[in-house]
Amino acid sequence: GIGLARRVSDIEVSLIVRISELAAARKKAGEDIISLGTGEPDFDTPDFVKAAAKTAMDRGETKYTANTGTAELKQAIVAEYARQGVTIAPANVIASAGAKQVLFNAFMATLDPGDEVVIPAPYWTSYVDMVSICGGVPVTVPTRGEDGFVLAPEALERAITPRTKWLLFNSPSNPTGGAYDAGQLRALLPVLARHPHVGLMSDEIYEHLVYDDFAFVSALKALPEMAERVLVVNGVSKSYAMTGWRLGYGVGPRALIDAMAVVQGQATSAPSSISQAAAAAALNGPRDVVAERREDFWRRRDLVVAGLNAVEGLVCDSPRGAFYVFPDCTGLLGRRTPQGTIVETDADLCEYYLEQAGVAVVPGTAFGSPGHFRISYAYAQVALEKALERIAAASAALV
Ligand code: PLP
Repeated sequence: GIGLARRVSDIEVSLIVRISELAAARKKAGEDIISLGTGEPDFDTPDFVKAAAKTAMDRGETKYTANTGTAELKQAIVAEYARQGVTIAPANVIASAGAKQVLFNAFMATLDPGDEVVIPAPYWTSYVDMVSICGGVPVTVPTRGEDGFVLAPEALERAITPRTKWLLFNSPSNPTGGAYDAGQLRALLPVLARHPHVGLMSDEIYEHLVYDDFAFVSALKALPEMAERVLVVNGVSKSYAMTGWRLGYGVGPRALIDAMAVVQGQATSAPSSISQAAAAAALNGPRDVVAERREDFWRRRDLVVAGLNAVEGLVCDSPRGAFYVFPDCTGLLGRRTPQGTIVETDADLCEYYLEQAGVAVVPGTAFGSPGHFRISYAYAQVALEKALERIAAASAALV
């Protein structure tokens, strides 16, 4: 066959995909598997958003749009930031086929071979693979559960080299649910100020999914001094349950947006005209659906955190946002299964949960943080309750 380029042959199949495939195969074989593996809201896209898409089609909005997005969508994004107290212009905005394409455009537009991207761990696996595909070098930096998985300024300082192009993080985070408050963002400023060649890429795709009294603050709002060096990555996938519409957006300095537009113009051109109309309606629309769903996710977070902490050997902090928890499972490692094998690693434990309990969760190793696993709680409450019971029973069966 055709020889494959090194940039793809070096990318390993992710543990997330492996676990999902194992779970799917068992399901197909008729087993009762609860898969808590994927990061997708279980809700449907709100009706008013679907209606806006239908209207757009009927109006004939079925052609190519401007490469970086329609004026209508960009205006909706500008207004969204104005509500947060951040002034941007349409020229600071690019709409793309999902937040993923925003990230990809940004790396393609800024990374020369060997350029480094500092990525706090645990991280969303795609960051590391995208940086590698684009010729960059991911530099991962561990964070600690007791710090809420927030990057310490000293750790950032140590990771920066003359080749560093970006610090990239996700707040609220996939996989931990941890999030940076305004003070934690401000704490990074002195380090970033000392290194003017380093930009901050802030993936804020879970911004609306925050709990307790946590107040989400965009990096654009918290770090106005950094306006020329911040790229915010966002989109409608998670907040409006629109993963299949493929609509994300980037907000940043004009020269960067223009460079990302060059990449996008040769890759895909603008995202779908219909998805853009739908996203504009979502952003301009009423927020009660988002608020209701947030309450629902909040209840599920509490259920899952309490259920996991009731298991001897698991420790689970109650995270600020997103729809993931990331319990520490080191207390269960080294124990023996009823079949007599030793559970040495988080990956072993996840395989055991799948085999013994029929529950699919993702090992922390997939996110650069061994000794943990990730549960997505974007699933029906009954499924979560059943999964927690099974995890408890399987954990208790380890000796
Ligand atoms: N960023 C993070 C942190 C995510 O978890 C995801 C989805 O899993 C995305 C981006 C992708 O968003 P989109 O569907 O808009 O490409």
